[in-house]
Amino acid sequence: MTTEEKPDALARLADNVAQVPGIGRKTAERIAFHVLQMSDEAAASLCSAIMDVKKTTRCSVCCNVVDADPCPICVDAKRDRSAICVVERPADVRSIERATGFRGLYHVLGGHIAPLEGVHAENLTIGRLVTRVVDGSVKEVIIATNPTVEGDLTATYLAQALSRFALVVSRIAKGVPSGSTLDYATRAVLTDAFSGRKPMRTGSA
Ligand SMILES: [Zn+2]
Repeated sequence: MTTEEKPDALARLADNVAQVPGIGRKTAERIAFHVLQMSDEAAASLCSAIMDVKKTTRCSVCCNVVDADPCPICVDAKRDRSAICVVERPADVRSIERATGFRGLYHVLGGHIAPLEGVHAENLTIGRLVTRVVDGSVKEVIIATNPTVEGDLTATYLAQALSRFALVVSRIAKGVPSGSTLDYATRAVLTDAFSGRKPMRTGSA
């Protein structure tokens, strides 16, 4: 089927899907065609999930994207308040919750430092993280940024920023393939990377 023969709605859906970073034209067309073949119920569920995402908010404590502020993890009295796991994206919180037995708190940076893309430390929630550790109740900050150049750069920056506090800054082990992202790591690999975390040297300590 050529582009000219496509019904308008199908082309319009493909146009919209193609706006998502990393989704090429061919994939967008495949997704649009998949939606066409979905049941009415499945399509309605997809629509409402999209609309619900627009109603989410940011947790004022951990900066995760959630339905309620503060989020269920931050208000859970059973969680270990002496450990904070720092991740780039909300999806990483879900990956770590699924894969590991970590029962501490989280902090979502909202991305990574990438000077070439114009993303600097002040564009992330690093200042908010620092305010969470000043009272001394946090004993370990586990940095679980992605094992990419930007993730490593962000981890080094965080270790420096936290070096004046009496706490351990650790980085998850390299079990997650270098250049990969946490959401693509298998559960076993992520579990090993998490339990094999090592304290970082900041250079100033
Ligand atoms: Zn929270």
